[in-house]
Amino acid sequence: MKIAKRFRWEGAHRLPWHDGPCRDLHGHSYEMFVEVEGELDDKGLLMDFKHLKRALMPLIDAWDHSTLVATNDTELLGVMKDTGWRHAVLPYDTTAENICIFVADYLITSSRDLLLERKVHTVRVRVSETETCYAEAVRTLG
Ligand SMILES: [Zn+2]
Repeated sequence: MKIAKRFRWEGAHRLPWHDGPCRDLHGHSYEMFVEVEGELDDKGLLMDFKHLKRALMPLIDAWDHSTLVATNDTELLGVMKDTGWRHAVLPYDTTAENICIFVADYLITSSRDLLLERKVHTVRVRVSETETCYAEAVRTLG
C-alpha cells in the first residue's frame, strides 16, 4: 500500500554552473509529493497523514519564501549573509533531484522509529519545479 502527501512552497535558487537560465537567481512554485509504501495495520491504516505533515513542515516552513543556497555557492551565501535575506542551506547543489534526496533522507532520519513502527519500507519523494517536469528519489529503510 502507498500513501502520499502533497506539499507546496515558493522558493528561489540558482545553479551557478548551469549553461542556461538556471544560472541566475530565480524562483519556482515547488510542488512535492512524499510517498510512503508499506504494510497496512489491522485497521487498514498505513500511516496517519498528520505524521507526514508534522515531520516535514519544519523543512517547508524554512524553505517557503526563502532562497535555497548550496554550501558550495559561497558567492550567494555571502550575499545572503550580508543582506540578512531569508535563506536555507542545502549541503549540495539545489537541483530538484538533490531536493528529493535531501527530503527523503531527512524524513527517514527524523522519523525512522515511526516509519519502522508503521511498517513503512520505502520512501519516494517527487519534486516539481514546473508543471511539466519532476524528479524523484527512492529510499528504502533497512
Ligand atoms: Zn530553478
